Amino acid sequence: MTDQTKSPAFATLAVHAGATPDPSTGARVTPIYQTTSFVFNDADHAASLFGLQAFGNIYTRIGNPTQAVLEQRVAALEGATAALAVASGHAAQFLAFHTLLESGDEFVAGRQLYGGSINQFNHSFKKFNWNVIWADSTKPETFEKAITPKTKALFCESIANPGGVIVDLAAIGAIAKKHGIPLIVDNTLATPYLVKPKDHGADIIVHSATKFLGGHGNSIGGILVDCGTFDWIKAGNRYPTLTAPNASYNGMVLAETFGNFAFAIAARVMGLRDIGPAIAPFNAFLITTGMETLPLRMRQHCDNAQAAAEHLSRHPKVAWVNYAGLPDNPYNALQKKISPKGAGAVFTFGLKGGYEAGVKFVAGLELFSHLANIGDVRSLVIHPASTTHSQLSKEERAAAGAGDDVVRLSIGIEDKADIIADLDKALAAV
Ligand SMILES: *Cc1c(COP(=O)(O)O)cnc(C)c1O
Repeated sequence: MTDQTKSPAFATLAVHAGATPDPSTGARVTPIYQTTSFVFNDADHAASLFGLQAFGNIYTRIGNPTQAVLEQRVAALEGATAALAVASGHAAQFLAFHTLLESGDEFVAGRQLYGGSINQFNHSFKKFNWNVIWADSTKPETFEKAITPKTKALFCESIANPGGVIVDLAAIGAIAKKHGIPLIVDNTLATPYLVKPKDHGADIIVHSATKFLGGHGNSIGGILVDCGTFDWIKAGNRYPTLTAPNASYNGMVLAETFGNFAFAIAARVMGLRDIGPAIAPFNAFLITTGMETLPLRMRQHCDNAQAAAEHLSRHPKVAWVNYAGLPDNPYNALQKKISPKGAGAVFTFGLKGGYEAGVKFVAGLELFSHLANIGDVRSLVIHPASTTHSQLSKEERAAAGAGDDVVRLSIGIEDKADIIADLDKALAAV
């Protein structure tokens, strides 16, 4: 007898979650619903949709059936109650904070973050008077020290881009729980295949779907995930978007009406409705298609990255390799605990020859593409000192982990031997 209560496994959910054959045509793959708007049955139907008394499609800025498949699939893979797909990873972060913070509020973020997130928090968020307090993701206690009565969220990455830091999510999650503050985890580099932040105490997860979820370097997209774990009402009046009577919905209290998926609803009906970073149905379709092979790709990405890191660590022209999958790496024990299936595909290493060697190494690669992205099936490389960080001084670059000798790789799913041969050829040219 089969156990009917057991939910399908990860690889099955990656292919099927959220999708059924199209009800009107029988199309097996959910079509790209390339439409701005949806016809109402009658005036009562329209009124109930607008009043949030019924779920349904109104206008693609707020939701679309192709987008809904992507949302349900990510929610299923993260073990969460609901998700919201938006135009980019940065839009997802923006809407997460827009839902939680009022002007004058603070949040604590670990400083080991994607550079774009550091810019967003330090500069654009300041215009809204949302104030970031920096902590150290490698020292969970620094999050607790930074908490004040104004703190409305904690934020970190699970595997931090690009230094290969594995973050002790459970330790930060315990601090969040103790203080009654939601923990937001950027799970872009790990994906739910490697790390399920909800199991370690995350309440909200954000993704740049541009990277491994879509996986093919063809679409920008982002996802917010509501784990359904945070009790907004218990937090009193600290999160008014969720708990104050909503003047634009006839005084409805979103946390009372929508319970354990109220955060996802609030991000949609306030954030997406009013700020507007909707994902194009075509991009949602491409990212959903990419996710069908997420487990296969992540296995190959990790296997190739482990082999490339081991190979580089033995090479005479390489000074150091920062990959948590290497036994002598300071994060190797945490990786085995938090991300046991692999250490991801993005890591940095240092060339003995410094700046000149970095430039020559990148020029000598053929299979690897020199560009500013990660999480593509193709292998990618960037030399931060001569590109993304070239406007900084030598000292500033070193402090940002982008010293002259640093090269960042995002290992693709090509044949392992071809990847290693390309690295060797470029190293020979240095
Ligand atoms: C790329 C990236 C982002 C930003 O996502 P976009 O889709 O480019 O807006 C955020 N966090 C991490 C870890 C990323 O790699």
